[in-house]
Formats: sequence, structure tokens, C-alpha cells
Amino acid sequence: MHEETQLLHTTTGEEPFRALTIPVHRASTILFPTVDAFLNRHEQFYDGYSYGLHGHPASRSLAAHVAQIEGANHALILPSGMAAVANATLAVVKQGDHVLLPDAVYGPTRAFADNFLAKLGVDTTYYDPLEAGGIAARFTQATRLVWVESPCSYTMEVQDVPAIAKVAHARGALVAADCTWASPLGFKALDKGADIAIQALSKHVSGHSDVLMGSIAVRDGQLYRQIKDAMGFTGQGVSPDDCYLALRGMGTLAVRLERQTRSALAVAKFLDLRAEIAQVLYPVLENDPGHALFQRDFTGAAGVFSFLLHRRSKAALVDFLEGLSVIRLGASWGGLHSLVALAQIEAQRTVSPWKSKDYLVRINIGLEHPDDLIEDLAKGLDRYRAAAK
Ligand SMILES: *Cc1c(COP(=O)(O)O)cnc(C)c1O
Repeated sequence: MHEETQLLHTTTGEEPFRALTIPVHRASTILFPTVDAFLNRHEQFYDGYSYGLHGHPASRSLAAHVAQIEGANHALILPSGMAAVANATLAVVKQGDHVLLPDAVYGPTRAFADNFLAKLGVDTTYYDPLEAGGIAARFTQATRLVWVESPCSYTMEVQDVPAIAKVAHARGALVAADCTWASPLGFKALDKGADIAIQALSKHVSGHSDVLMGSIAVRDGQLYRQIKDAMGFTGQGVSPDDCYLALRGMGTLAVRLERQTRSALAVAKFLDLRAEIAQVLYPVLENDPGHALFQRDFTGAAGVFSFLLHRRSKAALVDFLEGLSVIRLGASWGGLHSLVALAQIEAQRTVSPWKSKDYLVRINIGLEHPDDLIEDLAKGLDRYRAAAK
């Protein structure tokens, strides 16, 4: 054998090296021992190894962990939370079907429905996230899928998922849940009636604001294969390095969430007492309208919440947010660092009007000492009050 050929025959078998971590096998090609194994490789598509795009040890390991904490029989790993939303939907709807989405759904999910599903001949109706019984009137003969998102993005409404699932199942529709906020540690969507539970693993599970990934978890084997087929058709693959990072994040998920929730509660209570704040939206607070459902259905929370300020000028808001020194301005949440983001909600609603034209501020509480966060916000609110009306 020539040296240049030898250089291409590096070890491919199992090594006698035991670590606590999963090995990262970077591979498009998977080798087969026999012609028959090669010709029958599609049999490995769902649960084994046929091609790097469709699964490798790190993605299978991450999927197994996700399935375990979701209380599912199967899980799938995708390159983003949005890929999970899109593929879960595309796998179960066809032309002429009808989908129900909560009016306060994650913005890009709404854009996907309005611009992409519509083009495929799939109609969407938005429903008030707080109408559980009333949702029955939104169904048509063609309703195939109901999405729930609890709490909803930015505005934090807690949905009555078991009640919505009951109505949906009575009408033969599937329920998909995007309950990324509490992670599966805080909300077991499949136990609460969802057929499909998705997560933006980019948020709490990976936890360090440096990975994009999503998951879909189900109990039903047929549904699992249907979604995996859709992922094959749309070419959804994930990097083993990213899976490695998400798995590493999982090990600290419980302690991060516990600490972030504790700090967030302290910050939320501080904000609730400040004269500049009109309303804090955080179901963990006893005075939040979603608190009773949160208490009933959730076993844990997250350090992400929103608040509305009493109106002043945009310049006052800019002074407040740009002057923060510990907390930084950026989208996404669930990581170690405290972040603020802002949005105007009114224009994004069609059936449940939002009462305020003002910016809503969302805050992700990280692992900094809560006193530093409170001091940063206190100074910021002083600037807000001192700025011109
Ligand atoms: C962030 C987010 C997503 C999308 O996740 P990406 O990985 O950023 O695509 C989906 N749903 C919710 C509720 C989210 O917060």
C-alpha cells in the first residue's frame, strides 16, 4: 500500500478510550461491511446510521436525552428551533388543511404560516391564546394541527394546554407545543396533551448563546417516521460539534434554570415596585394573570420575562436601555448573560388586540449576581424618569 493510501486509512473502529463525554464523529459517509448492508442502508434511516445527514452518534445521543426529559419515545434534532417548528408542521399538513396558531405565537412562526404555508394552500386561523373553551369555534372540517405556545413569546400568556388538547383531539386534530420557555424540566408538553413537543435548544438547553439547534419529541412511532421523512426531504442535518455543545449544556440545565429563576424573581419584584413600570409580565409572580395555570401545570420556570413602562419619549427608552452596563441589548434568551430585547406588539395581533402601542421590554436574567442586575436597572430607570417626557 502506498503511503498516500495509508494516510487515508486511519482508525474507524471503537477505541479503548472511555471518557465521560460523547465522541464527536464528523462524517457524511458511513461505511458498510457488506454489499447487502449498503443496499439496505435505508433501513437504518430512522434509528441507525445510513448517512451523516440523517444521524450520527452525537445527534442520536442528544435525541435520546431530549426524548427522556420530554417523556417521549422518540426525538429528532434539527438545525434550529425554527426548523423544528417548520418541519413538524410540514410533516403533518397537506394542501387544503387548516392550522390554528395562537395570536401571540413566536413572530417567525407567524411569518412561516402567513408566507409559506399559505403558498402551499394551507390556511391558518389565529386564536386568542387565552380562549381555551372558545377555541372549538375556530375549527373547520380541515383543521389538522393546533399549535400552542406557553407562555407565549414576549407577552407571556399561559395557555390552558390540556383543555385545548382535549378540544383538538375530539375533532381529530393533532396538537404541537412550543414550550421552549420552561424547557422540558419545567413543562412536560406530552403529559399535558400535546402530540408533538418542540424545543428551541438554542435557548435554555444549549444555554450559552453560541449554538443554534431545535428538537421535536413524540410518543407515536408512526408520527416519528413521518417527521423524520419530512426532515429527509428537506435535508435537515446537524453538526456533531453542535450536538456536543448542546449535550454539555444539558448537564447544567437544572442548576442554571434554578438560579436564573431565583434571580429573575428578585428582579421582577424590584421592577414591580418601581413607579416607572406599568406592568411586569411573569407568570411566576403571584399577581400575574397566568399564575394559577402556571402553578397547576408547570414544575419549573425560567428567568425570562417582560415588562411595560409608563409612557415617555422613545429617547427616554433609548437612554434607559443603551446606558445599561451589565445587561446587554440582544435577541434570543436562555443563556448565561443577561439581555434585553424590545418589540411593539400591537401590529402583530389580529384577534386578541394588545392594549398598548408602547415598546414591551423582554429581559433574560443570566447568571450575574442579582444585586448587580438590580443596580443596573435602578440606574437605568432613574435615567428614564429624568429624560424628557
Ligand atoms: C427562539 C425561539 C424559536 C426559534 O429558535 P431558533 O433556534 O432561534 O430558530 C422558536 N420558538 C420560540 C418560542 C423561541 O423563543
